[in-house]
Amino acid sequence: MIGEMRTAACVAIGDELLAGDTTDTNSGAIAVALAALGIRVTKFVVLGDDKSELERTFYELAREFRIVVATGGLGPTLDDVTREAAAGAAGVPLERDAATVEWLRAVFASRKRPMAQANERQAWFPAGAQIMPNSIGTAPGFRVWIEGGMLAVMPGPPHEMRAMLQGELVPWLRKTCGVGAALSAQRFYLLGLAESAFADRAGDWMARAANPLMGVTAHSGVLAVTLRAQAESEVGAQRLLEARAAEFRERFAAEIFSEDDERPAFAVGKALVHRGLGLAVAESCTGGLLATLLTEVPGISAVFRAGWVAYSNAAKEATLGVPRALLMLHGAVSGPVAEALARGAAERSGAEIAIAITGIAGPDGGSAEKPIGLVWFGVCVRGSVSSVEMRFPPVDRASIRRFAAHAALDLIRRRALGS
Ligand code: AMP
Ligand code: MG
Repeated sequence: MIGEMRTAACVAIGDELLAGDTTDTNSGAIAVALAALGIRVTKFVVLGDDKSELERTFYELAREFRIVVATGGLGPTLDDVTREAAAGAAGVPLERDAATVEWLRAVFASRKRPMAQANERQAWFPAGAQIMPNSIGTAPGFRVWIEGGMLAVMPGPPHEMRAMLQGELVPWLRKTCGVGAALSAQRFYLLGLAESAFADRAGDWMARAANPLMGVTAHSGVLAVTLRAQAESEVGAQRLLEARAAEFRERFAAEIFSEDDERPAFAVGKALVHRGLGLAVAESCTGGLLATLLTEVPGISAVFRAGWVAYSNAAKEATLGVPRALLMLHGAVSGPVAEALARGAAERSGAEIAIAITGIAGPDGGSAEKPIGLVWFGVCVRGSVSSVEMRFPPVDRASIRRFAAHAALDLIRRRALGS
């Protein structure tokens, strides 16, 4: 009946959403559930409890999108007008559903509470609507046809909405969409590539019409890449996905750190544990952030030897043996000092691997030669020391520190884990 349906719109309804008292979480949950069916939600609309506005929007969206999913405004009180608006958009009157009245009476009887007259409103639906039972609350939802488009309406409270979505709407859509809606998805997490560099290397894999469709988001240096394949059958979608995933793994072999965990510290920490490689960290500008991230990994005590926060020059000299001459000559944020910090941490801890971070996180302290966002890393792997300079975007202090901690994890991965 619906035929080639691929996109959908969500409408979140309630004055409280526009007043800023409540944030719409329903539409996002619906988008996730529909995506799994191969239906892409491409529009979110938020509206108040205004009958004529809702009626017009339902009508227009149902014609433009063949699937519209609305939530909210199904309560027993007169300020909830979604059912009236849906009936108006469908051009049908509201009708009382006797079975729902009976069900409501039974629900209230079982709760040993009298049923208010107002609750009867919840038994009225647009004529011809298909009712979706509410397994948790007292407001059933419904599906109604508007000029060949389907409008589904569910209650606003998120737990009621979710139960109805999974229990009623998703099974119905799966059945109605039939073939042509199978979808498979796969994630990759990458380090060591800017989003723009990634886009260059991904090329036309990122085209909007590509199948699998590729999406990427960036967070503190971590790229999360999602591949979504669509096909007529699950097997077909899986086959498309696996072919692209295999090419992806090959093209980005040096950057992928995980396919299931977005936290670089977990991927790196577990690999260190797996290989029994001891690690020590010497931190300046990250102030212990790297040690914190690593020690969040269960079982890391098998390999995490020690961490130092050597903030002042005096501490760098006294606790990790950085020669004063190096500090004077090159400054604390420099390759030679980063290397000396890493060597000092390795020697004092006995760890096979040591990493040092020293940089300028701002907002003060930057100069033309050493701008905010400049970070030097020292790496010591079994006595062999090297350093790397990185320049992160001069955003805020917290972001630069997170960028630096993630970059350090990436260095450990590349230099010591060979992956
Ligand atoms: P209603 O169905 O309009 O009676 O909504 C009842 C309650 O559900 C509201 O007071 C909100 O707290 C919650 N709610 C409604 N719509 C949403 C939404 N889109 N996202 C999250 N919560 C919602
Ligand atoms: Mg409401």
